[in-house]
Amino acid sequence: MKNLILFDIDGTLLQCGSVSRECLSAAFEKVTGHTFPHEVTFAGKTDPLIVREAFRAVSIGKSDWVEMEQKILRTYPRYFEERMEDLRDQSRLLEGVTELLDFLAHRRFPMALLTGNLENTARRKLDVFDLNRFFPVGGFGSDCADRNRLARIALERACRHFDQRFEPARCWVVGDTPRDLEAAKAVGARSLGVATGPFAEPVLEEFFPDATAADLSSLGDIVKLLSSNP
Ligand SMILES: [Mg+2]
Repeated sequence: MKNLILFDIDGTLLQCGSVSRECLSAAFEKVTGHTFPHEVTFAGKTDPLIVREAFRAVSIGKSDWVEMEQKILRTYPRYFEERMEDLRDQSRLLEGVTELLDFLAHRRFPMALLTGNLENTARRKLDVFDLNRFFPVGGFGSDCADRNRLARIALERACRHFDQRFEPARCWVVGDTPRDLEAAKAVGARSLGVATGPFAEPVLEEFFPDATAADLSSLGDIVKLLSSNP
C-alpha cells in the first residue's frame, strides 16, 4: 500500500505573486469599508482565518463577522477571476515540482491537497501549470478556517476517493510553514517542511517535522522519504 501525500500550494508547489493578497484585501475593503491591515500576514493561514484576523485588527465587532466573512469570501474569487492574466504573469512553479508530481503519479501514489485557499482559487492557481490533474480531492479554506481540522477533512476525502483506509501514519503532509507541520501533527500524519516559502529550514525544524528540505528538487531523496514505512 502506498502512502497518501497531501500537498500545500503556495510556497510549496508554486509562488503566485501578489494577486491573492491584493484580491482578498480589495474584497475586505469593499465589504467592510476598512483598509486591509498591513500587519496581517498570509503564509500558512486559511483564507477565512486571514479575514478574521483582519476583522480583529480593525476592531470590527464579532456580531458582524459571519455575514461580512461570507460576503468577502464570495467577492474575493470574483476579483481573483478578473486577474487571471496577472496571475499567469506573476506565478512561478517551484523547483522540482513537476518532476516530483509526475513521478509520484506515474508510481500511482494517491495525492490530495491540504491548502488554506478556497477551492475555487486553489484550482485557479494550479490551472496555470496544469497541476489539477494530480489532485482529485483535498481540504480547502472553503471547508473550514482551522487548518488542523482541514487535515482531517482532506484525509477523509482521500479515503473515500481512493477507496482506501489510510492510517494517519501512512499520510505525509508537504508544506512550507509551521502551520502545515502542526496540521500534520494534529491528525498524526508525518510531515516534510520545505524551505521554499517564507521560513528557512532551521525555523521549520523548530516545529519538529519528520524531515525538511531546501526545495523539492532532490527527486530520489524526496521519493524515498515519501515512500518510507512509518
Ligand atoms: Mg504554503
